[in-house]
Amino acid sequence: MSDSRSPLCFHAAHALLADGWARDVRLQVQDGRITAIHTGQGAQHGDTRVGILVPGLPNLHSHAFQRGMAGLTEIGGGDGDSFWSWRELMYRFLAHLRPDAVQAIAAQAYMEMLENGFTRVGEFHYLHHDADGHAYANRAEMSTRIAAAADQTGIGLTLLPVFYAHADFGGAPPNPAQRRLIHDVDGFAQLLDAAKPALTALPDAVLGIAPHSLRAVTGEELSALLPLTDGPVHIHIAEQVREVDACLAWSGQRPVQWLYNHAPVDARWCLVHATHITDDERAAMVASQAVAGLCPITEANLGDGLFPMRAFAREGGRFGVGSDSNVLIDAAEELRLLEYGQRLTLRGRNVLAPDATRSTGRFLFEGALQGGAQALGVAAGLQVGASADLVELDAAHPALQARRDDAWLDSWVFAARNGALRSVWRHGRQCVAEGRHLQREAITTAFAAALKGVLG
Ligand SMILES: [Zn+2]
Repeated sequence: MSDSRSPLCFHAAHALLADGWARDVRLQVQDGRITAIHTGQGAQHGDTRVGILVPGLPNLHSHAFQRGMAGLTEIGGGDGDSFWSWRELMYRFLAHLRPDAVQAIAAQAYMEMLENGFTRVGEFHYLHHDADGHAYANRAEMSTRIAAAADQTGIGLTLLPVFYAHADFGGAPPNPAQRRLIHDVDGFAQLLDAAKPALTALPDAVLGIAPHSLRAVTGEELSALLPLTDGPVHIHIAEQVREVDACLAWSGQRPVQWLYNHAPVDARWCLVHATHITDDERAAMVASQAVAGLCPITEANLGDGLFPMRAFAREGGRFGVGSDSNVLIDAAEELRLLEYGQRLTLRGRNVLAPDATRSTGRFLFEGALQGGAQALGVAAGLQVGASADLVELDAAHPALQARRDDAWLDSWVFAARNGALRSVWRHGRQCVAEGRHLQREAITTAFAAALKGVLG
C-alpha cells in the first residue's frame, strides 16, 4: 500500500547502511523499494524523521500455527520429555485447526514478528489438507490463509510449501497423525501452481519449496522436487541425535553427509538446524555457501543441542535465525541466545565475532541479515533496490542512552528486554508505531477467538 505516485522520504539521524553506520541519512522510497540513499543531508520538509534506523531482520524459519500452542507443552513425565513427545502434542493440536483458525494464529505470529524486529518470514508451511487428510477444493487453501495473514500484517512472505510423504527413513508409510501433511510429487506440483495466485496480491512475495526432512522424503522424490523451483530450498536436517542414528542405520551416512552426496546443495539452500554435524559436514556446508538456519530459542526449548557456531562463523559460514516453533518471538533474543549458548559451552566471552572491527551485536545482526535474506530469496539491508523494510530503535529507551553505533545494537540485543523498537515500516508502509502493530487489537481479538474454538 505504499504510494505509487510520489516517492516517500525518510530522514534518519543515524542509520546502519551496507557499509556501516552513517549520519544524516535520507532514504528515498518508491513503490516500496529504496531508490536512493544520501548521507550527510539535513531533513527536508515532508520527510518522515527517525532517530536510529536499522534494517528489519529476516526470520528464515517459522511454523506459524505453532504460536497457538506456545506454552502448552512444558509439562514433563517421570522419564523426562523430548522432541518426540512434543511432536505428538503438536500433531494433536494440528488435528483441530481449520483454515480460519490458521489465518488468525498466523496473523498473531506475524504481528509479533513485526513488533520484535523481523520484517520478512520464511513460512515452512506443512499443514495442507483437511482434518481427514483430503485436499481442500482449493488445493492451496491453507497457503492462501498464510498469504492473507501476511497481507493483513504487512510482513514480507517467502512461502515454502512442504513436501512430506513418509514417517521415517527409507520411505516408510506415513502415520495417521500426518494425514494433513501428505503429498505425492504430482500433487505437490499442483499445490505449487495453486499457491501462486495467492501470492500475487503481496508486493514482494517469494515462492520456494521445503522437502521436510530426510525422514519424510526419499532420494528419488528429492530429485523430482528440485526442478519444480528456481527459488529457495529449505530442509530440516540433523536436529536430533536419534535422527542422525536412524539415518546411519538406514544409509551408513549421517544426514548432512547423505544430503551432500545425493543433492546439488548450493547457495539456494537453507539447512535448518544442522545441529549435529562433523567437521567434514561443517566444511561442506561452508564450501557450498548454503545458509545454516539456526533457531536458538526453539532448539533450546526442544533440547536439540548446539550448532558448532564458533567454528562455522570463523570459517565464513553463512547463517540466519528463525523463530521455528514460535514459542517466543523476538529477534534480539534469538541473537542473544545464539551467542550465549556458545559462551556457556566454550566458557568465554564474545566468542562469535571474528575480530574487533565489529561488535558482537553487529556481527550477529549483520550475519543474520545477510544469511536470512539469501535464504529467503531477497536483497538484504538498506541498499538501493532492496525493499524498504525499516526498523527504528527507540532512542528514548533507557538501555540505549549515551550509546552510539554498534553499542546501540549490543544494548538492544543484550540489555534491552522488550520495548526497544519504536517504529517499523515494511515495503515502505508503516506497520508498527510506538512499539505496537497498527492492527494489534483486531488481530489479537481474532487470535483469542480462534484459540477458544480450537482449545476451549
Ligand atoms: Zn521447523
